[in-house]
Amino acid sequence: MTNNQITDSSIITLNEKALEKNLAFLKKKLGTKVIISAVVKANAYGHGIEQIVPLFEKYGINHYSVFSFSEAIRVYNSLSKPQAIMIMGWISDKNMAVIIEKGIEFFIFNIERLEVALACSKKLKIKAKIHLEAETGMNRSGLSVDELDRAISILKDNIENIEIVGFCTHLAGAESISNHSRIQKQLRNYQKMLALLEKNNIVPKYRHVANSAASFIYPKARMELVRIGIMLYGFWPSIEVFIQYINNQNNKIDPLKRILRWKSQIMAIKKVKSGEFIGYGISYLAQTNITTALVPVGYSQGYSRSLSNKGHVLICGHRCSVISVINMNMIIIDVTHVKNVEVGDEVVLIGKQGKLEIKVSAFSDLSDKLNYEILAHLSESISRIVVKK
Ligand SMILES: *Cc1c(COP(=O)(O)O)cnc(C)c1O
Repeated sequence: MTNNQITDSSIITLNEKALEKNLAFLKKKLGTKVIISAVVKANAYGHGIEQIVPLFEKYGINHYSVFSFSEAIRVYNSLSKPQAIMIMGWISDKNMAVIIEKGIEFFIFNIERLEVALACSKKLKIKAKIHLEAETGMNRSGLSVDELDRAISILKDNIENIEIVGFCTHLAGAESISNHSRIQKQLRNYQKMLALLEKNNIVPKYRHVANSAASFIYPKARMELVRIGIMLYGFWPSIEVFIQYINNQNNKIDPLKRILRWKSQIMAIKKVKSGEFIGYGISYLAQTNITTALVPVGYSQGYSRSLSNKGHVLICGHRCSVISVINMNMIIIDVTHVKNVEVGDEVVLIGKQGKLEIKVSAFSDLSDKLNYEILAHLSESISRIVVKK
Protein backbone atom coordinates (compact mmCIF):
# COMPACT_ATOMS: atom_id res chain seq x y z
CA MET A 1 0.00 0.00 0.00
CA THR A 2 1.40 3.40 -0.94
CA ASN A 3 1.32 6.16 1.64
CA ASN A 4 -0.39 8.75 -0.58
CA GLN A 5 -3.71 6.99 -0.09
CA ILE A 6 -6.73 9.27 -0.06
CA THR A 7 -9.63 8.62 2.27
CA ASP A 8 -12.46 9.31 -0.17
CA SER A 9 -13.04 7.19 -3.24
CA SER A 10 -12.00 10.18 -5.34
CA ILE A 11 -11.09 13.81 -4.81
CA ILE A 12 -11.08 17.04 -6.81
CA THR A 13 -8.23 19.48 -6.32
CA LEU A 14 -8.49 23.11 -7.43
CA ASN A 15 -5.32 24.91 -8.46
CA GLU A 16 -5.32 28.42 -7.00
CA LYS A 17 -2.40 29.59 -9.18
CA ALA A 18 -4.27 28.57 -12.34
CA LEU A 19 -7.35 30.50 -11.24
CA GLU A 20 -5.24 33.58 -10.52
CA LYS A 21 -3.67 33.36 -14.00
CA ASN A 22 -7.00 32.97 -15.79
CA LEU A 23 -8.40 35.99 -14.01
CA ALA A 24 -5.32 38.09 -14.78
CA PHE A 25 -5.55 37.13 -18.46
CA LEU A 26 -9.26 37.92 -18.68
CA LYS A 27 -8.90 41.26 -16.90
CA LYS A 28 -6.07 42.24 -19.23
CA LYS A 29 -7.96 41.27 -22.37
CA LEU A 30 -11.36 42.65 -21.40
CA GLY A 31 -10.03 45.92 -19.99
CA THR A 32 -10.23 47.43 -16.53
CA LYS A 33 -13.49 49.27 -17.21
CA VAL A 34 -15.50 46.10 -17.83
CA ILE A 35 -16.91 44.34 -14.78
CA ILE A 36 -16.44 40.58 -14.83
CA SER A 37 -19.43 38.82 -13.36
CA ALA A 38 -18.18 35.34 -12.43
CA VAL A 39 -20.75 32.77 -13.54
CA VAL A 40 -20.86 30.10 -10.84
CA LYS A 41 -24.02 28.23 -11.78
CA ALA A 42 -24.05 24.40 -11.78
CA ASN A 43 -21.91 24.29 -8.63
CA ALA A 44 -19.34 26.60 -10.27
CA TYR A 45 -19.18 24.38 -13.37
CA GLY A 46 -18.55 21.40 -11.10
CA HIS A 47 -15.64 23.05 -9.29
CA GLY A 48 -17.65 23.68 -6.08
CA ILE A 49 -19.33 26.98 -5.15
CA GLU A 50 -18.05 26.94 -1.55
CA GLN A 51 -14.43 26.45 -2.68
CA ILE A 52 -14.40 28.65 -5.78
CA VAL A 53 -16.28 31.74 -4.59
CA PRO A 54 -13.81 32.61 -1.78
CA LEU A 55 -10.97 32.27 -4.31
CA PHE A 56 -12.65 34.56 -6.84
CA GLU A 57 -13.27 37.02 -4.03
CA LYS A 58 -9.62 36.86 -2.98
CA TYR A 59 -8.52 37.78 -6.54
CA GLY A 60 -10.87 40.72 -6.87
CA ILE A 61 -14.18 39.46 -8.31
CA ASN A 62 -17.10 41.43 -6.85
CA HIS A 63 -19.96 40.25 -9.05
CA TYR A 64 -21.46 36.73 -9.28
CA SER A 65 -24.04 35.17 -11.59
CA VAL A 66 -26.08 32.08 -10.80
CA PHE A 67 -29.12 30.37 -12.25
CA SER A 68 -31.32 29.82 -9.23
CA PHE A 69 -32.30 30.89 -5.73
CA SER A 70 -30.50 28.04 -3.97
CA GLU A 71 -27.25 28.77 -5.79
CA ALA A 72 -27.56 32.46 -4.90
CA ILE A 73 -27.87 31.59 -1.22
CA ARG A 74 -24.82 29.33 -1.41
CA VAL A 75 -22.80 32.15 -2.99
CA TYR A 76 -24.13 34.62 -0.40
CA ASN A 77 -22.98 32.32 2.41
CA SER A 78 -19.56 31.75 0.81
CA LEU A 79 -18.66 35.45 0.59
CA SER A 80 -16.78 37.23 3.37
CA LYS A 81 -18.72 40.43 2.73
CA PRO A 82 -21.80 41.30 0.65
CA GLN A 83 -21.16 41.53 -3.09
CA ALA A 84 -23.45 41.71 -6.10
CA ILE A 85 -25.18 38.39 -6.82
CA MET A 86 -27.39 38.08 -9.91
CA ILE A 87 -29.94 35.30 -10.48
CA MET A 88 -30.32 34.76 -14.23
CA GLY A 89 -33.11 32.21 -13.96
CA TRP A 90 -35.39 30.62 -11.44
CA ILE A 91 -36.79 31.99 -8.17
CA SER A 92 -40.11 30.68 -6.86
CA ASP A 93 -42.62 33.31 -5.74
CA LYS A 94 -42.22 32.06 -2.18
CA ASN A 95 -38.47 32.88 -2.20
CA MET A 96 -38.85 36.37 -3.68
CA ALA A 97 -38.96 38.09 -0.27
CA VAL A 98 -35.66 36.55 0.88
CA ILE A 99 -34.00 37.65 -2.34
CA ILE A 100 -35.18 41.24 -2.03
CA GLU A 101 -34.26 41.42 1.67
CA LYS A 102 -30.73 40.20 0.95
CA GLY A 103 -30.31 42.67 -1.90
CA ILE A 104 -29.79 39.89 -4.44
CA GLU A 105 -30.40 40.96 -8.06
CA PHE A 106 -32.48 39.02 -10.56
CA PHE A 107 -33.62 38.89 -14.17
CA ILE A 108 -37.11 40.04 -15.10
CA PHE A 109 -37.92 37.79 -18.05
CA ASN A 110 -41.68 38.33 -18.23
CA ILE A 111 -44.44 40.60 -16.90
CA GLU A 112 -45.61 38.08 -14.29
CA ARG A 113 -42.16 38.13 -12.72
CA LEU A 114 -42.20 41.93 -12.61
CA GLU A 115 -45.57 41.93 -10.88
CA VAL A 116 -44.44 39.41 -8.27
CA ALA A 117 -41.28 41.45 -7.62
CA LEU A 118 -43.23 44.69 -7.28
CA ALA A 119 -45.85 43.29 -4.94
CA CYS A 120 -43.10 41.86 -2.77
CA SER A 121 -40.93 44.99 -2.67
CA LYS A 122 -43.97 47.15 -1.77
CA LYS A 123 -44.82 44.85 1.10
CA LEU A 124 -41.24 44.83 2.39
CA LYS A 125 -40.64 48.51 1.61
CA ILE A 126 -37.29 47.51 0.10
CA LYS A 127 -36.38 48.22 -3.51
CA ALA A 128 -36.09 45.14 -5.72
CA LYS A 129 -32.87 45.16 -7.77
CA ILE A 130 -33.77 44.02 -11.24
CA HIS A 131 -32.22 43.33 -14.62
CA LEU A 132 -34.65 43.59 -17.51
CA GLU A 133 -33.97 40.71 -19.87
CA ALA A 134 -34.76 41.36 -23.51
CA GLU A 135 -35.88 38.69 -25.97
CA THR A 136 -33.69 39.54 -28.95
CA GLY A 137 -33.87 36.36 -31.01
CA MET A 138 -32.82 33.37 -28.96
CA ASN A 139 -36.51 32.72 -28.31
CA ARG A 140 -35.88 31.28 -24.89
CA SER A 141 -36.57 33.88 -22.21
CA GLY A 142 -36.95 37.63 -21.99
CA LEU A 143 -39.36 40.47 -22.72
CA SER A 144 -40.53 41.00 -26.28
CA VAL A 145 -40.76 44.59 -27.57
CA ASP A 146 -44.46 44.75 -26.62
CA GLU A 147 -43.75 43.35 -23.18
CA LEU A 148 -40.91 45.80 -22.68
CA ASP A 149 -43.31 48.59 -23.54
CA ARG A 150 -45.74 47.30 -20.95
CA ALA A 151 -42.92 46.84 -18.37
CA ILE A 152 -41.86 50.45 -18.93
CA SER A 153 -45.30 51.79 -18.07
CA ILE A 154 -45.46 49.59 -14.96
CA LEU A 155 -41.99 50.74 -13.93
CA LYS A 156 -42.85 54.41 -14.42
CA ASP A 157 -45.67 54.04 -11.91
CA ASN A 158 -43.50 52.22 -9.40
CA ILE A 159 -40.07 53.74 -9.71
CA GLU A 160 -39.76 54.21 -5.92
CA ASN A 161 -40.08 50.44 -5.41
CA ILE A 162 -37.55 49.27 -7.92
CA GLU A 163 -33.93 49.76 -8.91
CA ILE A 164 -33.20 49.01 -12.56
CA VAL A 165 -29.66 47.69 -12.29
CA GLY A 166 -29.36 46.14 -15.71
CA PHE A 167 -30.65 45.69 -19.21
CA CYS A 168 -29.51 42.42 -20.72
CA THR A 169 -29.96 39.64 -23.23
CA HIS A 170 -28.34 36.30 -24.01
CA LEU A 171 -26.83 35.48 -27.39
CA ALA A 172 -27.69 32.20 -29.06
CA GLY A 173 -24.29 30.63 -29.67
CA ALA A 174 -21.57 33.26 -30.08
CA GLU A 175 -18.96 30.47 -29.96
CA SER A 176 -19.72 29.33 -33.50
CA ILE A 177 -19.13 31.32 -36.68
CA SER A 178 -22.20 29.72 -38.28
CA ASN A 179 -24.37 31.76 -35.90
CA HIS A 180 -22.76 35.07 -36.88
CA SER A 181 -25.67 36.70 -38.69
CA ARG A 182 -28.15 35.58 -36.05
CA ILE A 183 -25.97 37.13 -33.32
CA GLN A 184 -25.59 40.38 -35.28
CA LYS A 185 -29.36 40.58 -35.59
CA GLN A 186 -29.72 40.00 -31.85
CA LEU A 187 -27.28 42.81 -31.12
CA ARG A 188 -29.27 45.16 -33.38
CA ASN A 189 -32.53 44.19 -31.67
CA TYR A 190 -30.91 44.80 -28.30
CA GLN A 191 -29.87 48.32 -29.32
CA LYS A 192 -33.38 49.11 -30.56
CA MET A 193 -34.91 47.96 -27.29
CA LEU A 194 -32.32 49.91 -25.32
CA ALA A 195 -33.29 53.02 -27.26
CA LEU A 196 -36.90 52.45 -26.23
CA LEU A 197 -35.85 52.38 -22.58
CA GLU A 198 -33.75 55.50 -22.92
CA LYS A 199 -36.54 57.36 -24.68
CA ASN A 200 -38.52 56.77 -21.52
CA ASN A 201 -35.68 58.07 -19.35
CA ILE A 202 -34.82 54.67 -17.98
CA VAL A 203 -31.05 54.34 -17.88
CA PRO A 204 -29.87 51.00 -16.49
CA LYS A 205 -26.53 51.02 -14.69
CA TYR A 206 -25.22 47.98 -16.57
CA ARG A 207 -25.89 46.91 -20.11
CA HIS A 208 -24.78 43.29 -20.54
CA VAL A 209 -25.12 40.70 -23.29
CA ALA A 210 -21.83 38.79 -23.48
CA ASN A 211 -20.75 35.40 -22.17
CA SER A 212 -17.16 34.14 -22.62
CA ALA A 213 -17.43 33.58 -26.37
CA ALA A 214 -19.17 36.86 -27.17
CA SER A 215 -16.67 38.82 -25.04
CA PHE A 216 -13.88 37.61 -27.30
CA ILE A 217 -15.58 37.38 -30.69
CA TYR A 218 -17.64 40.60 -30.44
CA PRO A 219 -15.63 43.18 -28.42
CA LYS A 220 -18.48 45.70 -28.85
CA ALA A 221 -20.69 43.34 -26.87
CA ARG A 222 -18.65 43.86 -23.70
CA MET A 223 -20.44 47.08 -22.67
CA GLU A 224 -20.26 47.65 -18.87
CA LEU A 225 -20.37 44.05 -17.73
CA VAL A 226 -19.62 40.58 -19.07
CA ARG A 227 -20.90 37.29 -17.69
CA ILE A 228 -17.92 34.95 -17.83
CA GLY A 229 -18.21 31.27 -16.96
CA ILE A 230 -16.22 28.61 -18.79
CA MET A 231 -13.06 30.69 -19.39
CA LEU A 232 -12.58 31.47 -15.70
CA TYR A 233 -12.19 27.74 -15.19
CA GLY A 234 -9.56 27.53 -17.92
CA PHE A 235 -11.54 26.28 -20.92
CA TRP A 236 -12.25 27.94 -24.25
CA PRO A 237 -15.96 27.98 -25.14
CA SER A 238 -15.15 26.30 -28.45
CA ILE A 239 -12.19 25.47 -30.64
CA GLU A 240 -13.25 28.31 -32.97
CA VAL A 241 -12.91 30.94 -30.26
CA PHE A 242 -9.49 29.56 -29.31
CA ILE A 243 -8.27 29.53 -32.94
CA GLN A 244 -9.46 33.07 -33.54
CA TYR A 245 -7.60 34.25 -30.44
CA ILE A 246 -4.37 32.35 -30.98
CA ASN A 247 -4.11 33.26 -34.68
CA ASN A 248 -3.63 36.89 -33.67
CA GLN A 249 -0.89 36.13 -31.14
CA ASN A 250 2.84 35.70 -31.64
CA ASN A 251 3.03 33.46 -28.64
CA LYS A 252 1.06 30.32 -29.45
CA ILE A 253 0.78 29.08 -25.86
CA ASP A 254 -2.74 28.70 -24.46
CA PRO A 255 -3.04 31.44 -21.79
CA LEU A 256 -5.83 29.62 -19.96
CA LYS A 257 -4.98 27.12 -17.25
CA ARG A 258 -7.26 24.35 -16.06
CA ILE A 259 -8.11 24.67 -12.40
CA LEU A 260 -9.59 21.26 -11.77
CA ARG A 261 -7.88 17.91 -11.27
CA TRP A 262 -9.86 14.77 -10.42
CA LYS A 263 -8.08 11.77 -9.01
CA SER A 264 -8.74 8.43 -7.40
CA GLN A 265 -6.65 5.35 -6.63
CA ILE A 266 -6.49 1.67 -7.43
CA MET A 267 -8.63 -0.40 -5.08
CA ALA A 268 -7.81 -3.86 -6.44
CA ILE A 269 -5.69 -5.55 -9.11
CA LYS A 270 -6.61 -8.75 -10.91
CA LYS A 271 -5.16 -11.05 -13.55
CA VAL A 272 -7.66 -12.21 -16.16
CA LYS A 273 -7.02 -15.07 -18.59
CA SER A 274 -7.35 -14.78 -22.33
CA GLY A 275 -10.85 -15.71 -23.50
CA GLU A 276 -12.69 -14.34 -20.44
CA PHE A 277 -15.31 -11.61 -20.56
CA ILE A 278 -14.72 -8.71 -18.16
CA GLY A 279 -17.40 -6.76 -16.26
CA TYR A 280 -21.13 -6.78 -17.02
CA GLY A 281 -22.26 -8.51 -20.17
CA ILE A 282 -20.12 -9.26 -23.18
CA SER A 283 -18.81 -5.84 -24.22
CA TYR A 284 -15.19 -6.70 -23.40
CA LEU A 285 -13.44 -9.99 -24.15
CA ALA A 286 -9.80 -10.45 -23.01
CA GLN A 287 -7.88 -11.46 -26.12
CA THR A 288 -4.65 -12.14 -24.17
CA ASN A 289 -3.84 -12.62 -20.50
CA ILE A 290 -4.35 -9.17 -19.02
CA THR A 291 -4.00 -7.31 -15.74
CA THR A 292 -6.87 -5.07 -14.64
CA ALA A 293 -7.11 -2.35 -12.00
CA LEU A 294 -10.38 -1.53 -10.29
CA VAL A 295 -11.03 2.16 -9.54
CA PRO A 296 -13.82 3.31 -7.18
CA VAL A 297 -15.39 5.91 -9.48
CA GLY A 298 -18.42 5.50 -11.72
CA TYR A 299 -21.31 7.28 -13.36
CA SER A 300 -22.86 8.19 -10.00
CA GLN A 301 -19.89 10.55 -9.45
CA GLY A 302 -20.06 11.91 -12.99
CA TYR A 303 -17.76 9.54 -14.91
CA SER A 304 -19.91 9.36 -18.01
CA ARG A 305 -21.26 5.95 -19.06
CA SER A 306 -20.53 6.89 -22.64
CA LEU A 307 -16.81 6.41 -21.84
CA SER A 308 -17.42 2.65 -21.57
CA ASN A 309 -14.63 0.88 -23.52
CA LYS A 310 -13.41 4.32 -24.68
CA GLY A 311 -12.11 6.48 -21.82
CA HIS A 312 -8.54 6.81 -20.59
CA VAL A 313 -6.96 7.47 -17.20
CA LEU A 314 -3.38 8.05 -16.08
CA ILE A 315 -1.61 5.53 -13.81
CA CYS A 316 2.13 5.58 -12.95
CA GLY A 317 2.75 7.98 -15.84
CA HIS A 318 0.99 5.73 -18.39
CA ARG A 319 -2.16 6.30 -20.37
CA CYS A 320 -4.48 3.37 -19.68
CA SER A 321 -7.78 2.34 -21.27
CA VAL A 322 -11.13 1.95 -19.60
CA ILE A 323 -12.40 -1.51 -20.43
CA SER A 324 -15.96 -2.83 -20.30
CA VAL A 325 -18.91 -0.71 -19.16
CA ILE A 326 -18.76 2.10 -16.60
CA ASN A 327 -20.54 0.93 -13.41
CA MET A 328 -22.41 3.09 -10.95
CA ASN A 329 -19.39 3.26 -8.61
CA MET A 330 -16.51 1.52 -10.37
CA ILE A 331 -14.46 1.40 -13.55
CA ILE A 332 -12.09 -1.31 -14.75
CA ILE A 333 -8.77 -0.28 -16.32
CA ASP A 334 -6.33 -2.26 -18.44
CA VAL A 335 -2.93 -1.95 -16.70
CA THR A 336 -1.19 -4.87 -18.43
CA HIS A 337 1.52 -2.52 -19.76
CA VAL A 338 2.20 -0.77 -16.42
CA LYS A 339 5.17 -2.28 -14.53
CA ASN A 340 5.09 -2.54 -10.72
CA VAL A 341 1.50 -1.29 -10.54
CA GLU A 342 0.14 -1.57 -6.99
CA VAL A 343 -3.06 -1.20 -5.05
CA GLY A 344 -3.24 2.42 -3.80
CA ASP A 345 -1.50 3.92 -6.85
CA GLU A 346 -2.88 7.27 -7.97
CA VAL A 347 -5.38 7.27 -10.85
CA VAL A 348 -5.90 10.60 -12.64
CA LEU A 349 -9.34 10.88 -14.25
CA ILE A 350 -9.03 14.55 -15.31
CA GLY A 351 -5.84 16.58 -15.26
CA LYS A 352 -2.09 15.98 -15.36
CA GLN A 353 0.14 13.22 -14.12
CA GLY A 354 3.80 13.73 -15.03
CA LYS A 355 3.97 14.76 -18.68
CA LEU A 356 0.58 13.36 -19.64
CA GLU A 357 -2.81 15.00 -19.31
CA ILE A 358 -6.45 13.95 -19.56
CA LYS A 359 -8.26 17.05 -20.73
CA VAL A 360 -11.95 17.36 -20.19
CA SER A 361 -12.28 18.16 -23.87
CA ALA A 362 -10.56 14.88 -24.80
CA PHE A 363 -12.94 13.20 -22.45
CA SER A 364 -15.87 14.91 -24.08
CA ASP A 365 -14.83 14.46 -27.72
CA LEU A 366 -15.12 10.78 -26.99
CA SER A 367 -18.35 10.96 -25.12
CA ASP A 368 -19.94 13.49 -27.47
CA LYS A 369 -20.49 16.01 -24.72
CA LEU A 370 -19.32 19.53 -24.18
CA ASN A 371 -16.85 20.51 -21.47
CA TYR A 372 -19.76 22.30 -19.86
CA GLU A 373 -21.81 19.15 -19.47
CA ILE A 374 -19.00 16.94 -18.18
CA LEU A 375 -18.03 19.54 -15.57
CA ALA A 376 -21.61 20.11 -14.46
CA HIS A 377 -22.04 16.38 -13.90
CA LEU A 378 -19.18 16.04 -11.40
CA SER A 379 -21.03 14.95 -8.30
CA GLU A 380 -21.38 17.41 -5.43
CA SER A 381 -20.53 14.53 -3.09
CA ILE A 382 -16.87 14.51 -4.23
CA SER A 383 -14.64 16.48 -1.81
CA ARG A 384 -12.98 19.54 -3.28
CA ILE A 385 -9.78 20.99 -1.88
CA VAL A 386 -7.80 24.05 -2.94
CA VAL A 387 -4.10 23.56 -3.62
CA LYS A 388 -1.60 26.44 -3.91
CA LYS A 389 0.53 25.11 -6.75
C1 LIG B 1 -24.09 30.29 -18.50
C2 LIG B 1 -24.34 31.66 -18.91
C3 LIG B 1 -23.28 32.54 -19.15
C4 LIG B 1 -21.83 32.11 -19.12
O1 LIG B 1 -21.49 31.39 -20.29
P1 LIG B 1 -19.98 30.92 -20.58
O2 LIG B 1 -20.03 30.40 -21.97
O3 LIG B 1 -19.69 29.83 -19.60
O4 LIG B 1 -19.09 32.09 -20.40
C5 LIG B 1 -23.60 33.86 -19.45
N1 LIG B 1 -24.88 34.29 -19.51
C6 LIG B 1 -25.92 33.46 -19.29
C7 LIG B 1 -27.32 34.00 -19.37
C8 LIG B 1 -25.70 32.14 -18.99
O5 LIG B 1 -26.73 31.32 -18.77
